[in-house]
Amino acid sequence: MNVREATVHPKATENIDEIINIISTLIEKGYAYAVDGDVYFSPKKFDEYGKLSHQPLEELEAGARINVEEIKHEPMDFALWKGAKPGEPYWESPWGHGRPGWHIECSAMVRRYLGTTIDIHCGGQDLIFPHHENEIAQSECCNGASFANYWMHNGYINVDNVKMSKSLGNFFTVRDVAEKYGYEPVRYFLISSHYRSPINYNTEIIEQCKASLERLYTCRNNLDFALENAADGELDNEFNDKVHGRIQQFITAMDDDMNTADAIAAVFELVRDINTVIAAGANKATLELAAKAFDELTDVLGLVYNRNKASLDDEVEELIAQRAQARKDKNWALADEIRDKIKAMGIVLEDTPQGVKWHKA
Ligand SMILES: [Zn+2]
Repeated sequence: MNVREATVHPKATENIDEIINIISTLIEKGYAYAVDGDVYFSPKKFDEYGKLSHQPLEELEAGARINVEEIKHEPMDFALWKGAKPGEPYWESPWGHGRPGWHIECSAMVRRYLGTTIDIHCGGQDLIFPHHENEIAQSECCNGASFANYWMHNGYINVDNVKMSKSLGNFFTVRDVAEKYGYEPVRYFLISSHYRSPINYNTEIIEQCKASLERLYTCRNNLDFALENAADGELDNEFNDKVHGRIQQFITAMDDDMNTADAIAAVFELVRDINTVIAAGANKATLELAAKAFDELTDVLGLVYNRNKASLDDEVEELIAQRAQARKDKNWALADEIRDKIKAMGIVLEDTPQGVKWHKA
């Protein structure tokens, strides 16, 4: 899906020593306490608890339950370390055999690989409370520094307007969708609305995404084709102003909490402007500016990335040449055979007065 590879893929199980370090510091500083092989954090000791979910502690406390068998002091206290029950996997710790609580893993790995303060922390909206709230409490109490500058929480995916869930059976993977539509339409779908809003998936919507992407590819391929045949000349000033206006529109949208929906709208307005100058037979300097702006904006969104597959280009060009030769030789059977082969690769051919043009279907 044209997602950049992460620099590290840390595992909680490889960071138990860092987890134990943080828990020890929290106990030393008085934010956490050990009891019978468990360790708990006391949110009451941290004045800013609830600042992410904007819920006062008393309100959260009213909803919290304490099970009779639990040994923590207050209902809101959460586990940093749990003693192992017989037969469970465990690690050695100053509090005996046990395993980390699920919030502490993130605080430990963030500190080890990224530092005490990170710029952006992402996650699903369902993680704001208690998970992210607890990460903040642990990290800030331990490190004495602000944990994250920005929180980006994404909305849920609905399928035919019903929340996607395993139990409802309306559940499928990116791979399932990609098998039918390809990966890039899935990427397009995900960024076609603002990340904080819920997104609705259905067949009609993914098909629309695929069609929109095709419009982008067609525009870019037409630009290439026009560039090959363009005459020299001065850059069209009116078009230059328009393009810079579109770029500014794009930047404004992205600066507004990464509003990719509005950013895509700016790209499509640019495409409309580009299609107009292509149709008007623009010169080389003008078309070059159009290509540069198009590539810059689509690259930020990670779209139209399948153009850069040079090997595909070479293969298709070769087949087109073979087909032209077959037609010249009046070998219609072979020409049709090559045409079918090209079609099977998902390539659409178009005969124009300037020669054969092609684009991905
Ligand atoms: Zn986490």
